[in-house]
Amino acid sequence: MGLAMLASFALALLALSGCDSSNDSTTNQSPAQTLIQRQPFFAMGTMVEVVTYGADKKTHTAATREIENTFTELAKTWQPWQKADAPHGKLARINQDLLAGRSSLSTEKLNRIMLEASELSQQSRGLFNPAIGQLVQTWGFDRSVDLPNTLPDPATIKALIDANHGPHLLRYTAHSISSLKPVALDYGAFLKGYAVDRAIDILRDYGIEGGLVEAGGDLRVLGSKDEQPWRIGIRNPRGSGVLASISMQPGEAMFTSGDYERYFEAEVDDLSKPLAPAADGTPRFAKTKQRFHHILDPRTGYPAMGTASVTIITDEGAKADAAATALFVAGPGKWEKVAVSMGIQYVLLVDTDGNAYLNPAMAERIKFETQPEGSLLLSAPLVAKVVPQVAPQVVPQAPE
Ligand code: ADP
Ligand code: MG
Repeated sequence: MGLAMLASFALALLALSGCDSSNDSTTNQSPAQTLIQRQPFFAMGTMVEVVTYGADKKTHTAATREIENTFTELAKTWQPWQKADAPHGKLARINQDLLAGRSSLSTEKLNRIMLEASELSQQSRGLFNPAIGQLVQTWGFDRSVDLPNTLPDPATIKALIDANHGPHLLRYTAHSISSLKPVALDYGAFLKGYAVDRAIDILRDYGIEGGLVEAGGDLRVLGSKDEQPWRIGIRNPRGSGVLASISMQPGEAMFTSGDYERYFEAEVDDLSKPLAPAADGTPRFAKTKQRFHHILDPRTGYPAMGTASVTIITDEGAKADAAATALFVAGPGKWEKVAVSMGIQYVLLVDTDGNAYLNPAMAERIKFETQPEGSLLLSAPLVAKVVPQVAPQVVPQAPE
C-alpha cells in the first residue's frame, strides 16, 4: 500500500462529517479497498463510522445496525441530566438522587461500569474524575451545541471544588448506588471509549475479523486489513489536516482529547496591559480573547491549561479515553507520571505552543506527516521507577 493512499485513508477517517454509505471506498481502484465497507451514523454528538474489511454486505449492515443501537442506548443511559424532551435516563435519575442525598436504584451492570471508571480515576490520581458532573454543568459543557460565552461565577466554581467530591465516596450494592456526600456523575470522558469497546465485541460476535470503529477521531481497530495494519491519522490540533500517522496493532485503541472539540472564547483582562484606572480608581486592563474548553482540571475547576491535544494508544477504548483526558489535565511536565500510573505505553502530547512531546516507544512507531509548529521533545521511557532490591544483609554481631 503506497504512502499517498495511507495519507488519504487517514484523512478520510478524519473528515467523516458529510459521508454517507454511498461514499464508501468501493469506487476506488485498489483490490484491497474493494473489500472495505464503511457506514456512518450520528450518535453521542458525533459521527461514528463502522469500517469492515472482507465481510459480506449483509453481515456488515447487521453488525453496524446493532452497533448504532448500542451507541444510542448507551448515550440515553449515561446522559447525566434529564433533557426536557426525553424520558429520564438511568444516570440522570441517579444524579437526581445522589444530589438529594438519597441512595439510588441501579443495576449490577451499571455499577460495574461505574466501578471500572472509578478504578481508572484512582490510577489517574484523580485527574480523570467522573464525579465532576456539577462542574461540567456549571460551565455549560454538558451541551454540545449552544455553548455559553461567559465564564461561570468564580464563587460557584470555588464552592464546588471545596466540596471536593471524588468517585471514592461512592458505595455500590448489586441494586443500588449511594454517595457519602451529594454528587453528580459525568462519564463523558470515558463513555465513547466504552462504547467503541462494545462495538468491537459486536463485530467479533458477527464473525468479522477485520475492521475498525471510529467516533469523532477516536477509534479501535479489529484485526488487520489485507494482512496490513490499519494506518490512522492524528489530527493537527491547530489548523487542519493530519499531524502524524500510526500503524495500529490488532485490537489497539487510539483516543485523542483536544481543546478544539468543544470550547467558547471570552474576553478577559490582560493583566500585562494596564490602562488608565476608571474614575472611581478601579484598575482597568486591555482585553484579550481566551479559549475555554471542555476538559476541566478537577483541582482548579477551570479548563486545564497548557495542553492542546493528547493522543493515547492502548489495548482498550475505555482506558484510552479516560487516559487521554487525564494526561490532557496533567499537561507538559506531569503527563509521564500519570501515564506510568495508568499503565499507558504510547503518548503524544501537543502543548498550546505547538511543541510535541512523546515517549520513546511512541516515537518509534509514529510518522509525522506535518512538521510540528514547535519542538519535538522525547521523554524518558514510561516505566515505573524500580526500587533496587537490596539483599538482606547479615549484620555481624559484635563479640560480647
Ligand atoms: P471528547 O469527549 O471531546 O473526546 P474527553 O474524552 O476529554 O473529550 O471528554 C470530555 C468530557 O468529559 C467533557 O465534556 C466533560 O463531560 C467530561 N470531563 C471534563 N473534564 C473531565 C475530567 N477532568 N475528568 C472526567 N471527566 C471530565
Ligand atoms: Mg476522554
